[in-house]
Amino acid sequence: MSGPAGARERLVVVGNGMAATRLVEGLVAGGYAGEVTVLGDEPVPAYNRILLSAVLEGTHAADALTLRSPQWYAEHGITLRTGSRVLAVDRDHGDVMLVDGTLVPFDRLVLATGAIPTLPPIRGLVRADGSLHPRVHAFRSLADCDGLLEAVPAARRAVVVGGGLLGLQVARALSVRAGLDVEVVEGGEHLLHRQVPAAAGAVLRRSLAALGTSVYTGARAVRLHHHGPAVGVRLDTGPVLDTDLVVLTAGGRPSTALARAAGLEVRRGVVVDDLLTSPTDPRVHAIGDCAEHRGVTTGFVPPAWEQAQLLAARLCGADVAHEGSRSVARLRATDLDVAVLGDPVHEPGEVVEVANPLAGRHARLVVRDGVVVAASLVGDLSRVGLITQHYDRGTVLGPTEPGDLLLPDPVAAPPVLPDDAEVCACAGVTAGAVRACASLAEARETTRATTGCGGCASVCASLVGRAGERQRAVVP
Ligand SMILES: Cc1cc2nc3c(=O)[nH]c(=O)nc-3n(C[C@H](O)[C@H](O)[C@H](O)COP(=O)(O)OP(=O)(O)OC[C@H]3O[C@@H](n4cnc5c(N)ncnc54)[C@H](O)[C@@H]3O)c2cc1C
Repeated sequence: MSGPAGARERLVVVGNGMAATRLVEGLVAGGYAGEVTVLGDEPVPAYNRILLSAVLEGTHAADALTLRSPQWYAEHGITLRTGSRVLAVDRDHGDVMLVDGTLVPFDRLVLATGAIPTLPPIRGLVRADGSLHPRVHAFRSLADCDGLLEAVPAARRAVVVGGGLLGLQVARALSVRAGLDVEVVEGGEHLLHRQVPAAAGAVLRRSLAALGTSVYTGARAVRLHHHGPAVGVRLDTGPVLDTDLVVLTAGGRPSTALARAAGLEVRRGVVVDDLLTSPTDPRVHAIGDCAEHRGVTTGFVPPAWEQAQLLAARLCGADVAHEGSRSVARLRATDLDVAVLGDPVHEPGEVVEVANPLAGRHARLVVRDGVVVAASLVGDLSRVGLITQHYDRGTVLGPTEPGDLLLPDPVAAPPVLPDDAEVCACAGVTAGAVRACASLAEARETTRATTGCGGCASVCASLVGRAGERQRAVVP
């Protein structure tokens, strides 16, 4: 693409997170002809945010999370500026201003600023100067993770505020790594109440209890009390939880301040159309957690990567449009396997359910007119690939098939995973694409399978190098 007077188009990407990295990879793969500059405020190269809890848990080193090294950018002629917060976007002059006053001109701008943690309304959480109380930690960035890791050795107890996907990851990591006494406070009636039914929430509660973690549901943290070096978290149901650390995992909201100040249309997120373009300015795009498409903001890697890939393809000349992302969420936390397709709590339909709390398992399919319209799986993701395939395709199933999906016949041959079945939900990679690769390293590099939550690593390992050989599946 070219800029004014035939010069190379100057594309500036604000934010250097998971969506921005996927975008740049797509631009490189598609042979984008413009000049690309990526501006990220974090001091480190882009990393896999999903795996922050693995760093907290001690199973991954922080530098193992790097998505692309600075050398990779240099080799592909991309300018990467880390530690460069963008303070303002000037659409009239076509430039952005960095925190040090530098102006970076653009012909086209992509906002990939992600989300910022929501601060729950707890009195005493924020000090007079606007900073968080020193015992209180957010958990969104590598810096947050480092701060928490520094505080952990001196702590015995932790309170995690928020019993959603992130809260579960953090609670597990803190009890496994540091043996802390962890208490989780969740305002909803059960854990993960937005994503899974109550019975599945009970299974998760049981898994946490096995690690010594207590869970308070239907309770909100309302006040932080000071008890000498420790603090107390008061719940609206009465108790005060004495603790050394408080971790906020009560969700995030799209980071929209730059876009709003630049006069771009912002509702909950930065509004974009089916071409991921702002209706206010055709030179500006938004992708990932900060974007709002057809009234929906997301907050998971699969839609962020889908948008990034699509925008990259468009900027490389493909005639593609975004029709919205399907809702597929997969939680990454050791021994806490959760996958959610659509909205299994509210979606109307017949419910087919299998539960074994003793084994930490719960599975629900919501079926309407024979089609799986939503699903949640807790504790056993061995069938998630096939279920996702039926969900994506809208396959009409016979009356016994939904049950068979959840309770496979132990003596029947394992099902074959067709080439078009998706094995990596994060990067949207099919079994066929992985089979076409000669090695896992090639699959990682060319398809980006396994580089998100990593939950598909074992199935990908079993598929590589088997092109044309419709394998008896080790189903993901
Ligand atoms: C701890 C944790 C665990 C998660 N686990 C899962 C999971 O298991 N599964 C899943 O699907 N999703 C998970 N997510 C969500 C997932 O990480 C996000 O959906 C994904 O990172 C979105 O990518 P993004 O590029 O839009 O935002 P981000 O990856 O957040 O990147 C945005 C970047 O922009 C930078 N930025 C913001 N403003 C500016 C500015 N003005 N100037 C310069 N830079 C700026 C930010 O600092 C950040 O580096 C998790 C998130 C967290 C925090």
